[in-house]
Amino acid sequence: MATPTNSPSASTTHGGTRVEFKNLTKVFDNGGHRTEALKGINLTVEPGEVIGIIGYSGAGKSTLVRMINGLDTPTSGELYVGEHNVVGMPEKQLRTLRRGIGMIFQQFNLLSSRTAAGNVAYPLKLAGMPKAQRDKRVAELLEFVGLGDKGNNYPEQLSGGQKQRVGIARALATNPALLLADEATSALDPDTTHEVLKLLRKVNKELGITIVVITHEMDVVRSIADKVAVMENGRIVEYGSVYDVFSNPQTDVAARFVATSLRNTPDVVEADDLLAKDGRLFTVNLTEESGFFAAAAKAREAGARISIVHGGITTLQKHSFGKVTVRLTGDEDAVQGFYEQLSTTTDCEEILR
Ligand code: ADP
Repeated sequence: MATPTNSPSASTTHGGTRVEFKNLTKVFDNGGHRTEALKGINLTVEPGEVIGIIGYSGAGKSTLVRMINGLDTPTSGELYVGEHNVVGMPEKQLRTLRRGIGMIFQQFNLLSSRTAAGNVAYPLKLAGMPKAQRDKRVAELLEFVGLGDKGNNYPEQLSGGQKQRVGIARALATNPALLLADEATSALDPDTTHEVLKLLRKVNKELGITIVVITHEMDVVRSIADKVAVMENGRIVEYGSVYDVFSNPQTDVAARFVATSLRNTPDVVEADDLLAKDGRLFTVNLTEESGFFAAAAKAREAGARISIVHGGITTLQKHSFGKVTVRLTGDEDAVQGFYEQLSTTTDCEEILR
């Protein structure tokens, strides 16, 4: 149970919006110079889900977000936010739609001339909420983000993490059912990033808001998202549950992002050091049904010696998985038997000299 001060009374939202892209494209045409920023996006975000959209710079992530909040218009395709197709929607309706979407940004985008309370109050003022009601709601929102005592501080008197908390309170002010976070933690140090991600999780769990997180950091995806879509060159090249993508990435780009977060295989320098000694090295995928232990026992019986030289196990979405790198020495047939047994049941890759 939430404590009274943390109660979701800060917002009445109890449910998120569904977002669906159908073959959406976006072409920028600047005086004859064409850039296909989105090349046919198909993606569904279910209500109340947290999705991480990850990709290198220029992959099309920001363009995708700008489509959702109607700040830019798609070239073709359909995009549903809730019931409504945003493509071709008149500006007046778009403005109403935007009120149901909260945004948080890398640079916080706070008004420096207003206090924390003033920043949170701003969208409520624009929406015409009377002052007494506004003050009460601002106090609730600041409490919800853990800044109940900082209402009178100006942005310059706040740390980066506190500024982003104000940004989140402001984004929640109009009671959105969808929150878009565009590189919202990229300007923060690791501890503060963790704090802000924890708050976003609370927003999702307690208020049920759908959250779309745009990031180039796989750690962010890992700690907050249910699903992940990997973008490359205007396309979604991989999509799945965070567990599926982390434990078994299908594309090179996804594997590279996963490696930045898990660091459970030796890098080239470590591999070089490990190869300087005797024996053969194998990196084995450890999923919950891994045949590693059976194969290791059999190989030892047959005269191989096994030592674990590198690895890491992690838990995601209630599943444990990881990789170990092992060195096998001793009887050559036993070593080869280990490799052959595992390469049929699970991923087992030899690190070659
Ligand atoms: P990301 O957010 O993944 O870094 P962007 O969505 O910003 O990627 O950009 C995707 C591609 O679209 C890039 O090649 C970028 O140069 C291009 N692009 C983005 N906005 C514009 C624009 N307003 N005019 C022309 N090209 C653009």
